[in-house]
Amino acid sequence: QGRLRDRVAVVTGAGSGIGLATVRRFAAEGARVVCVDVDAETGGRAAEEVGGEFVAADVADETAVRELFDGVAQRYGRVDVAFNNAGISPPEDDSILSTGLDAWERVLRVNTTSVYLCCKYVLPHMRRQGSGSIINTASFVALMGAATSQIAYTASKGGVLALTRELGVQFAREGIRVNALCPGPIATPLLTELFAADPERAARRLVHVPMGRFGRPAEIAAAVAFLASDDSSFMTAAQFVVDGGITGA
Ligand code: NAD
Repeated sequence: QGRLRDRVAVVTGAGSGIGLATVRRFAAEGARVVCVDVDAETGGRAAEEVGGEFVAADVADETAVRELFDGVAQRYGRVDVAFNNAGISPPEDDSILSTGLDAWERVLRVNTTSVYLCCKYVLPHMRRQGSGSIINTASFVALMGAATSQIAYTASKGGVLALTRELGVQFAREGIRVNALCPGPIATPLLTELFAADPERAARRLVHVPMGRFGRPAEIAAAVAFLASDDSSFMTAAQFVVDGGITGA
């Protein structure tokens, strides 16, 4: 029953959007899912829905991330999949001329430093097993210019891509695969909130999607499940783009 049968899978940002859809997909494919979020209410609900475990953690906090992965390894005996997905896209992060250093550092910390921390603390466990699949959420915005004016967000996702390539190559001979996912615009609270602050931005963004619509969280979850499973066994250090055609246009 399912490609992820009995695999232990950690999903960060599990309470909403892409993370929530992936929790559901992982569970449907047979995984034992550990749902991680700063928001205990939504994260707890996600875990409850699939009969998984909830762990409250801020992925930008080193101690919390170390305890998260050490705890999972201790309780389950292994960690097969880490979907490092939690991220923010604050509306105030915009042109370089208006983005303050505080906003810049906050976005880099939550979106990029968190991925560094999650990889750093899951890798020793995967190394011991000699297997594992890490999927880091980047974005199509890191693959093209003028995709968004959000300067800190774009830079933070570029960092995720570079880090992923580097780790993918470094651990390729140890049975550990590290891939980046580049979603296009997906109808999740993150995007909806951004567009509510600037409705014209939604219309502008849609014009550039060849498919003429935003993606659904489940369409990204399907790609994540592929990357997590053995179906992608020859893929590592890759950028997996699921964007309705934007970067191909
Ligand atoms: P979302 O806002 O719907 O969900 C993000 C979840 O992460 C929330 O549950 C939130 O509580 C959690 N979170 C935020 N900061 C956290 C922290 N410090 N520690 C732990 N949890 C934290 O967002 P989404 O659209 O599902 O985005 C998920 C990922 O996909 C993000 O990395 C985002 O940048 C990326 N992405 C989204 C889109 C899109 O269009 N929605 C496109 C490309 C990439």
